[in-house]
Amino acid sequence: MPEFRFEPVIMPPGAQKLRIEVRAFLAEERNRGTFAPTVGAMTASDAAFSAKCGERGYLGMTWPKQYGGHERSALERYVVVEELLAAGAPVMAHWIADRQSGPQILKHGNERIKKMILPEIAAGRCHFAIGMSEPDTGSDLASVKTRAHPVDGGFRVTGRKVWTSYAHLAHYTIALVRTGGRPEDRHVGLTQLIVDMKSPGIEIRPIINVYGAHEFNEITFDDVFVPEDMCVGGVGQGWAMVTSELAFERSGPDRFMSTYPLLVEAFREVGDTPGAMAAAELGRLVAHLATLRRMSSSIAGMLNEGQSPVTEAALVKDLGTTFEQSIPEITRRILPLEPRSDGNDHTYDELQQLSQLQAPCYSIRGGTREILRGMIARGLGLR
Ligand SMILES: Cc1cc2nc3c(=O)[nH]c(=O)nc-3n(C[C@H](O)[C@H](O)[C@H](O)COP(=O)(O)OP(=O)(O)OC[C@H]3O[C@@H](n4cnc5c(N)ncnc54)[C@H](O)[C@@H]3O)c2cc1C
Repeated sequence: MPEFRFEPVIMPPGAQKLRIEVRAFLAEERNRGTFAPTVGAMTASDAAFSAKCGERGYLGMTWPKQYGGHERSALERYVVVEELLAAGAPVMAHWIADRQSGPQILKHGNERIKKMILPEIAAGRCHFAIGMSEPDTGSDLASVKTRAHPVDGGFRVTGRKVWTSYAHLAHYTIALVRTGGRPEDRHVGLTQLIVDMKSPGIEIRPIINVYGAHEFNEITFDDVFVPEDMCVGGVGQGWAMVTSELAFERSGPDRFMSTYPLLVEAFREVGDTPGAMAAAELGRLVAHLATLRRMSSSIAGMLNEGQSPVTEAALVKDLGTTFEQSIPEITRRILPLEPRSDGNDHTYDELQQLSQLQAPCYSIRGGTREILRGMIARGLGLR
């Protein structure tokens, strides 16, 4: 029976120095009032903050210098990502581009596109959205209906995408479209296209979420022209591209650190002499966190070596989202919210309330729990 591979990784020599540098940058930005820590990992967007990350060399870290990258290792990138999330920084503007669209373009994109887009992503000035889900197609991506038909010099795209996070602020969306066959043909005939969000024929409608924020959208494509070199990975290769992309999307610290800033505040609230129950519950959470870090950094090591650990990534996302959902649940038991009017800063209360509203979405975005468990079972040869 196939087994999970989670080889331990050794952090490169410069990693600790880098961690200290990133922490100092984040402390300075926080003191300046650039941001207040928040939960959700990928919910707060600030283009100016992303540009600062770009200036400091924290984006496109592993890419070749000729495309604006910094030729650092995936594990150094891991350190930066972890520190940004631990601080609850507003990373959303650059997140998708740096995490998955950029690596896809680097690996499968045409030379003109690589030169045009990658340096801008690395500078924190070019932001992407993911156009996979459709009104009747979320988990079952193979049945997408948005169509792209070939025309002179490119494609014409018609269809609808939904739940497209931050598409209203993105410069480009990578859309999964059907270039051949029918929805019943499943994996055959799917293609990934980079769509410029300024193209005529695109309409973006906001979807307001349960806590009143405009984070995701519905996009309508009405005969939108996409030049042929904006196709990533070749016509008909969409399914292979999506599955390899999901290993990047599902395995990082953003899949278990969404509510980490709340955990830190809970520690602050219980102080140096927690009761026995608080000590046991918080101790267990820290132990789980250490295990998830070990698993997730191991995947970063495998991705660094060019492997595609899809089953392991699905496992990290499933365990990771269960963990990040458990933080508001457990801290609520230890530290119930009481009305407080003592004039002090109550970051804990704010983060607790927001986490409770957000938490259900963690195990839906990026692939639902049931789908991940099905993939894990298949990866282990159990179905
Ligand atoms: C906060 C947030 C941000 C998102 N951002 C994006 C984005 O930027 N881009 C994008 O493309 N999408 C995005 N999504 C969409 C997300 O990926 C989909 O919602 C998700 O894949 C589920 O699809 P669905 O909503 O169509 O549900 P469905 O696929 O209809 O699923 C409904 C329920 O049925 C279960 N189910 C479905 N199929 C099976 C099966 N075969 N076996 C067992 N159970 C099954 C699911 O687990 C789920 O519980 C986002 C979602 C959220 C919540």
